[in-house]
Amino acid sequence: MIIVLKPNMNEKDLAPIYNLAKSRGLITQDIIGESTRMIGLAGDTASLSPDDLMLFPCVDRIIKVQEPYKLAGRKFHPEDSVFDISGRKIGDGSFTVMAGPCSVESEEQILNIAADVKASGADFLRGGAFKPRSSPYSFMGLGLEGLELLKIARSKTGLPIVSEIMSIEYLDVFARDVDIIQIGTRNMQNFTLLQEIGKLKKPVLLKRGFAATIDEWLMSAEYIMAGGNDQVILCERGIRTFETATRNTLDLSAVPVLKQKSHLPVIVDPSHATGFWNLVAPMSLAAAACGADGLIIEVHNDPAHALCDGAQSLTPEAFDELAQTVRAVLPYAARGE
Ligand code: PEP
Ligand code: MN
Repeated sequence: MIIVLKPNMNEKDLAPIYNLAKSRGLITQDIIGESTRMIGLAGDTASLSPDDLMLFPCVDRIIKVQEPYKLAGRKFHPEDSVFDISGRKIGDGSFTVMAGPCSVESEEQILNIAADVKASGADFLRGGAFKPRSSPYSFMGLGLEGLELLKIARSKTGLPIVSEIMSIEYLDVFARDVDIIQIGTRNMQNFTLLQEIGKLKKPVLLKRGFAATIDEWLMSAEYIMAGGNDQVILCERGIRTFETATRNTLDLSAVPVLKQKSHLPVIVDPSHATGFWNLVAPMSLAAAACGADGLIIEVHNDPAHALCDGAQSLTPEAFDELAQTVRAVLPYAARGE
């Protein structure tokens, strides 16, 4: 529900509205435009009748918001969200590149890759410490040791780090140690995890569930935001379809759809979407062209011997070429509507 205020209203007339909303357990969001001021209400708004709200002299009219996601939706927040994460802006029209191995394997491996991707212009270092694997017999990551190695790589290169959390058990460690907490495709609807992440003041990279609709994905963002954490970055990483030529099907139309529906930054993961290193560059260029705010790309110094996802990992040389090429597409990228 959105309360549109009269143009000549007085600031002090608003307090009773905020108090009423609070007493019903609703979240309020100020929407301040050039000539109009509005208050968005999120939560169980059934407890408030539009007729009652119209009794306040400063209220001009009430707009019902159909979408179930309010805080993640554009209606409540017409401007693009821009986050400043460890000194790097995302969502401001610049193009953010996150790169690194699927999994942290050793100190030497992560330091080498971190130095290489930094030299190629990456903005963030990615690396899995806790890996969600389809088989219980596969390498599951180095766990806390992996996070320690990422921290060493960050201190040597200055690159902020992105890593996936799997369980609320390590919430405090992730809140303290990483710059962006990644929620993987398999946990997009782990609502307990989303609620706990919502209590943090920490940027989150929320990957799309491999069988989730865009609206379901936005509802997961809403879970995090309803807890008070508004720094959510959406990551399209491919969905499962009947096609088997690629690991998943990269739904690039999700990028402009999300730009219409939401104010949150959107990045694309062509590595998990395609599953093949030689498809990563073309889909990265396409992602840049259709208005994505950035990419997250798997890079490995020895893909043939990677402990996880070697087939889709770029060598540092291939990543370097892509990083330079993608910048050439950006001036032609679609932005906004
Ligand atoms: C990853 O980024 O390491 C990962 C496991 O991705 P996804 O959750 O998209 O499969
Ligand atoms: Mn991977």
